Amino acid sequence: MAKQVQNFNAEIKQLLDIVIHSLYSHKEIFLRELVSNASDAIDKLKFQSLTHPTLLPADWAPAIRLETNPEQRLLKIIDNGIGMSQEEVTEFIGTIARSGTKAFAQLSQEMKSKPELIGQFGVGFYSAFMVADKVTLHTQKAGTSEGTVWESTGDGTYSIDSVPRPDGTGTTLTLHLKEFKTDDEVQDFTDAWNLKSLIKKYSDFIAYPIKMKNDKGEEETLNSQKALWLKSPSEITKEEYKEFYQHLTHDWNEPLKTVHYKAEGTMEFNALLYLPNKKPFNYNTRDTEFGLSLYIKRVFIMADCKELLPPYLRFVKGLVDSADLSLNVSRELLQQDRQVTQIRKNVVNKVLASLKDMLTKDRNQYESFWNEFGSTLKEGMPGDPANKEKIQDLLLFHTTSSDKMTTLDEYVSRMKADQKHIYYITGDSLSQVSNSPYLERLKEKGLEVLLLVDPVDEWVVGSLENYKEKTLQSIMKEGLELDTEDEKKQKEEERKHQTENLKPVLETLKKTLDSNVKDVVISDRLTSTPVCLVSSAHDPSAHMQRLMEQMGGQYKNPVKRIMEINPNHPVFEKMMKASPEQQSQWAEILYAQALLTEGSNLPDPVKFSQQIAALMVQAAESTKH
Ligand code: ADP
Repeated sequence: MAKQVQNFNAEIKQLLDIVIHSLYSHKEIFLRELVSNASDAIDKLKFQSLTHPTLLPADWAPAIRLETNPEQRLLKIIDNGIGMSQEEVTEFIGTIARSGTKAFAQLSQEMKSKPELIGQFGVGFYSAFMVADKVTLHTQKAGTSEGTVWESTGDGTYSIDSVPRPDGTGTTLTLHLKEFKTDDEVQDFTDAWNLKSLIKKYSDFIAYPIKMKNDKGEEETLNSQKALWLKSPSEITKEEYKEFYQHLTHDWNEPLKTVHYKAEGTMEFNALLYLPNKKPFNYNTRDTEFGLSLYIKRVFIMADCKELLPPYLRFVKGLVDSADLSLNVSRELLQQDRQVTQIRKNVVNKVLASLKDMLTKDRNQYESFWNEFGSTLKEGMPGDPANKEKIQDLLLFHTTSSDKMTTLDEYVSRMKADQKHIYYITGDSLSQVSNSPYLERLKEKGLEVLLLVDPVDEWVVGSLENYKEKTLQSIMKEGLELDTEDEKKQKEEERKHQTENLKPVLETLKKTLDSNVKDVVISDRLTSTPVCLVSSAHDPSAHMQRLMEQMGGQYKNPVKRIMEINPNHPVFEKMMKASPEQQSQWAEILYAQALLTEGSNLPDPVKFSQQIAALMVQAAESTKH
């Protein structure tokens, strides 16, 4: 095929523009990204050769080489990994934008000052353009004999050509380094000493030798290649843990917590796990890969092994190196492998225990974790019944009793002696629920209420049911009993009386709102608000119904709620004296108010506002006389 010139797609152009014009001073990180790609390529070839041994060239010894030419300002990064076919080059480094390209370009302002985040977006290759004004890639895919040369100056086009690669399988990346100006370019990337210290700093633990010729023409290995996870924790510095984390995740932040251990006994493996400080950019999007890297006896098998981690712990990064699994594993086999299940179980226990430990020993750190990943962890309540008891102790909730979040255990320890329930309210936002009229009576009685505003909370309370023999009780559902037996008896009389008194109003409300509510009853749930809606004990809450609708499900027959009225509110006494038309109009307004109070939308907001305007006019007229 003849040499072709092609255009980058719009998003890659944008991305290159950011990278090329970045004023970021730590441009050195390009080396970490490119060495990491080379190491991944060797990993892949090694793994594929387990089942296709003929892919390995004769006398293959995996290695990454650095070559420099200071006069021509060239830096080459050479690997004998899997290589790429021509289609793969176009796909990975050319025209087809992967999700990360778009995300990176969208964050252009942020990325101009923090291009080091580039690796997180899966587009680390382009970091080469931070230091080079021309990049040449020469690659040959394992098992093929056709080489490909790709070249670009980053100006919007690239060329691609078929040229055999003299070294056979593998990839050579040649960076034509930008003019070295001492004022803005801090480092010379053809300088051997400089390269050596950068490799030590970022890539020391890369499992393959990174080699470079010294002044005498002898080949030197720059990295120690120690598998960090096989060393004992006491021999590892914080810095080393951090660098390894950055290598694994391309996350430039420090990890929040590191968990490194060796499991012994029925199965043997080493695990090095990290909790990140912050969510990665693509967290929660559906195509996000998660899982741990799997090694078997130090051989890299795969990244993102989902079988090692349940989805509700998808924020955990790290690796497992097993001594027992067979090297001939495949994804399909992993799913049924009993030992893999055992490893996952062990990892889950360890992570949950570490979180418990953090919660008890460093509450600030735990809350910082919770703010990022609490919602994800909560999915384990309905998702992992076997560990429900452990997860429930890790939950934090907003509460009416303090600005600080609380655990269930802390809530229970503050409960009044005769309190039987853990009270909670669900809704869309803290400001909405913390001012909710449903709280009126409980506040009056000094009862603490958990404020649940995370969509997943509806499922969490659904699977929790009770905690330390205290049942959970929604304060938006019927049957909220806050009184002692004596108080109840006393109130029963009063209620009978009030029901008798307000009978005509209750009947008008029932008649007018027949198609909207199940029933209209007097209650003492409220103190200063006239009406509210409550769900029957076993019906979904209004909040739950809204969530289901947002998720695309439609309730065929929306579950009707019960309207509760506050008999002490003056509006009902006035209503008794109003004309029948006024009464039914008021009934509609009260129903609309009740919907707003529970956080629901009004079916006809225009009508509601007209009704309110009409009331205002009426009120003005009546004060005139
Ligand atoms: P990432 O490595 O995060 O996927 P990059 O932009 O760095 O993103 O690389 C894109 C893809 O190009 C890689 O996923 C890999 O398939 C391919 N690639 C990059 N460098 C090499 C290499 N040295 N050898 C083989 N393939 C490579």
